Amino acid sequence: MLKLYNTLTRQKEEFRPQQAGVVNMYVCGPTVYNYIHIGNARSVVAFDTVRRYLEFSGYQVNYVSNFTDIDDKMIKAANEQGVTVSQLADKYIQAYMEDTASLNVEPATIHPRATENIKEIIAFIADLVEKGYAYQSAGDVYYRARKFAHYGQLSGQSIDDLEVGASEHVSTEEIAKKEDPLDFALWKAAKPGEIKWDSPWGAGRPGWHIECSVMATKYLGITLDIHAGGQDLEFPHHENEIAQSEAKTGQHFVNYWLHNGFVTIGKDNEKMSKSLGNFVTVHDLIKEVDPQVLRFFMSTTQYRRPIQYSQESLVEAQANLEHLKNTYNNLAYRLKDATSGTDGGVQRKLADFRSRFVIAMDDDINVQNGIAVVYELMRFANQYVEQRLVQREPIVAIQLMLKRLVAVFGVDLQEEVETNDEAIEALIKKRDAARAEKNFALSDQIRDQLKERGIILEDTPQGTRYRKESK
Ligand SMILES: [Zn+2]
Repeated sequence: MLKLYNTLTRQKEEFRPQQAGVVNMYVCGPTVYNYIHIGNARSVVAFDTVRRYLEFSGYQVNYVSNFTDIDDKMIKAANEQGVTVSQLADKYIQAYMEDTASLNVEPATIHPRATENIKEIIAFIADLVEKGYAYQSAGDVYYRARKFAHYGQLSGQSIDDLEVGASEHVSTEEIAKKEDPLDFALWKAAKPGEIKWDSPWGAGRPGWHIECSVMATKYLGITLDIHAGGQDLEFPHHENEIAQSEAKTGQHFVNYWLHNGFVTIGKDNEKMSKSLGNFVTVHDLIKEVDPQVLRFFMSTTQYRRPIQYSQESLVEAQANLEHLKNTYNNLAYRLKDATSGTDGGVQRKLADFRSRFVIAMDDDINVQNGIAVVYELMRFANQYVEQRLVQREPIVAIQLMLKRLVAVFGVDLQEEVETNDEAIEALIKKRDAARAEKNFALSDQIRDQLKERGIILEDTPQGTRYRKESK
C-alpha cells in the first residue's frame, strides 16, 4: 500500500483517497513572468512523477495546476518589457507548456489562470469578510490570521513566533493598514495605471494566496486528496491557503500535503532561485542538453530530497538513460531471430521485478530504490538477449515491462533501430564483406564513416547491428 509523507502530520501515512480509484490533486504552478528555471522544473517533474506512479497504480488522477498571471512581479515585468500583463502571461504560459512538454510532463487536467477566476475570487473573499475572517482597510482586504485556530500548524510554528517574523518583514505602510502584522492580503487596491478589476472594496486585484484556495476548491471540491508544491511554499502560501479554505468551508481542506526539495547548485550547495541569480532556465539548457536526460536526471531523485545540479550528474544520467535505450533496442533486435514460444521462468522473474518496484515506490515514491529495480531488470534483459536461442514472447514481455517501469520516470522508450535505411544497411554489408576478407583498414574506415553520421555499430554473435548515437 502506498504511503506518503504528509507535511501536516510529519509522518508517512497510508494513502487513502476519498473516492476509490480517483485522486484529486492540486499543484501550485508558476508565476508566468519569465521562463522556468531548473528549480521550478523540479517541482513540475517531481509531481508529474508522483502522478505517473499513481496512474501506474491504477488511479485516475484529476490534476490541477494553476498559472499565477497577476501579481506584483507580473506588473513589474510587464512594465519593464513594455507589454500588457496579459501579453506577458500568454508568452510565458506558452513557453511553460513547451518547456514542460519537452521534459515529457503530462499536461494538467486543468491549468486554470487566476485572471480567469476573478469573479470566484471576489465571491470567496466576500464570504470571508461576512464570516468575520477578513476585513477591509483602505481599499485592501486582509485575512485575520489569529482568528484561525490552526494557523501555523502546517509549518509547525507557534503564532507568536510567526508574529515576530512578520513584524520584521512588513513595511510601516502595510502595518498601518493591518490590525495585526500577521494578517495577509486577500485583495489589493490598484495603484494608478495598474491593471484592475472592480470589486465591493473598490478597483484592485487579488493577493497571491487566495487564487489557489479558489481554484483548488472550484475544480476539485472542498477537500483535496493531495496538495503539492515546493518546500518554500509551506509558509506562508500553503498555511494561508488552509486558513482561507477552512474558514470558508468549515471542512478539512487537504488530506495529504506533499512538498518537494530544492535544487542546489555550486560547491556550497546554494538553493537555485531567481532572487539569488544562480539559475539556469529550462529554455536555455535544453538547447545543449537532451531534455529527456534532464527529465531522467530530475525524476530519479525522490521528490522530498534536494537535487544537486551539476554537469557530472547530467553526464551520469545520460549514460544510464543510454544504457536503458540500448537494452530496449537490443531486445528489439533479437526479435528478428527469436523463435515462437513462452518461458514461464521469464514471466515469474518479471512479476518479481514488478512487485519489488511497487514495494520501492509505495514507500513515499522512493524513486532511487525504484530505479535500482529497473537497472536490475535491465541486466536481466541483457543476459537474456545474449543467449544463443531466444523466444519471441519473453522478449516482448521484457520490453513491455521495461517500457512501463521507465514511463513512471517520464521516459518513453522507443525502438530506434532504423531497419529501412538502405544506405546504412549497404555500408554494413560492405563492411561485413571487408571483415570476411580480413581487410580491417576498409572495415574500420566504414565504421568511422558511419560514426560520423551518428551510427554506432555493434558486432554480436548474431551479426552486426547498429543504433543511432544519442545526442
Ligand atoms: Zn498555490
